[in-house]
Amino acid sequence: MRYFPVFADLANADVLVVGGGEQAARKVRLLRKTGARITVVAEAVIAELRELGQQGDICILARPFLARDLDRQRLVFAATGDGLGDSAVSRAAKARGIPVNVVDAPALSTFITPAIVDRDPIMVAIGTEGTAPVLAREIKSLLETLLPANFGVLARRAQGLRATVAKAVAAPSRRRRLWERLLQGPFRHAVLRGAEDEADRILSAELHGEDRPPRPAASGRVTLIGCGPGDPDLLTLKAVQRLQEADVLVVDRLVDAKVLEYARRDAERIFVGKTPRGATTSQAEINRILVREAQAGKAVARLKGGDPLIFGRAAEELATCQAAGIAVEVVPGVTAAHACAARIGLPVTLRERVREFAVVTGSSAAGEPDLDWSALAARGAAFAVYMGVDNAPLLRRDLLAAGANAATPVVIVENGTRERERAIATTLADLTDALAQHAVVSPAVIFVGLDWAEAGLCRPASVIVHRRRRRAGIDLSREELAANAETAS
Ligand code: SAH
Repeated sequence: MRYFPVFADLANADVLVVGGGEQAARKVRLLRKTGARITVVAEAVIAELRELGQQGDICILARPFLARDLDRQRLVFAATGDGLGDSAVSRAAKARGIPVNVVDAPALSTFITPAIVDRDPIMVAIGTEGTAPVLAREIKSLLETLLPANFGVLARRAQGLRATVAKAVAAPSRRRRLWERLLQGPFRHAVLRGAEDEADRILSAELHGEDRPPRPAASGRVTLIGCGPGDPDLLTLKAVQRLQEADVLVVDRLVDAKVLEYARRDAERIFVGKTPRGATTSQAEINRILVREAQAGKAVARLKGGDPLIFGRAAEELATCQAAGIAVEVVPGVTAAHACAARIGLPVTLRERVREFAVVTGSSAAGEPDLDWSALAARGAAFAVYMGVDNAPLLRRDLLAAGANAATPVVIVENGTRERERAIATTLADLTDALAQHAVVSPAVIFVGLDWAEAGLCRPASVIVHRRRRRAGIDLSREELAANAETAS
């Protein structure tokens, strides 16, 4: 170890930054998180620094660096962008024994700054002694995903409880066990969820029965996690955190296997896939599983495709948990329509043109889609159909019967963000034909009323264009009208 890790207390300390460009501003941004008094010496400074100077947040000396600028300074940073200038600052600081850091020049520095993961007051510093900053960045992004954004809130909460806990429990070993329970058990989860009332309740129970393990039933909880359309990179940070906390995973069919990699290896997995026509676990059975597992004191992660609140039967599961008095939380996910639109660069609203975008279901409890056809058939209507592959012929028939233009653009995205993703552009008239010709299967989103051309965009080359072959001379709209008349009668 050549570089010794330390954390410098900068509250009310003087710190000097020599240089006024972007590199200097980066140091100033970071230093402003501390309580340091910052002086910037530079003949010219960028607007951001100038504004901070005008607001009185930092002191700016608009002139070249002088040795006397080092008086009283606890740390010095040099980022002049000029090798000679930086060396002069480094020499002067070293002569006075003041720690100095020259940006991107470890040889001129007496200390270097680590990559950090900031969960104030928890600070993770990562250093490679300048050998491989790329690896430091990799570790940083890993930790950024793993540590909840409000992890620091938990630390502050602990700090605020020190005196109370010390008074409540005198024996050091019992006190340590209490801290472990508070910071790793249900209290922690409630604080991180922002459920302050619940955290207070758990805290007071823990303080008054401090040596008993918490009752299992009290610690059980359910999290409905939106797992996105497939690609695990689309998981939210919160989804990953909840996956890692889970004791048991209750998994939907549409959740990609790669998502499960983010869960703990020892977490139990219960697959409750509901395939459109295949073997199913009934919703009532799923509800029973959630309650059973949570009441056994487990952290239950209910993994759902896309977003849990969009065509995800979340209401039943939430209501079941509420009725059973089980704490329940929803973590949003990227819904299929948004992910599919992003894959093919298709805006779902357009300034002045498409002011509404709906998500509709192509299936219903009764089987056939049952929608407000006249609204959906109106000019300018734009929507995404979920679960629509099987009923697409009925959807097409009812839209045309309600007066939709046969030439309305339609884009089908099958397996969006997954392996075997396909996108097919066609028209409402040719929708059924396109699905049959290309043997499209679920899961697929069908966009109606949206097109690239209208948005002034090029259609991506990966999109297959499907047009039904017609006998020459037959007018499209008349043919479609005839088809409508047949199917509607
Ligand atoms: N809660 C989910 C939707 C569940 S309903 C969400 O927010 O995305 C199931 C339907 O979602 C499928 O029939 C299909 O229409 C759509 N879907 C889910 N994943 C998809 C994917 N990767 N590509 C295309 N459509 C998908």
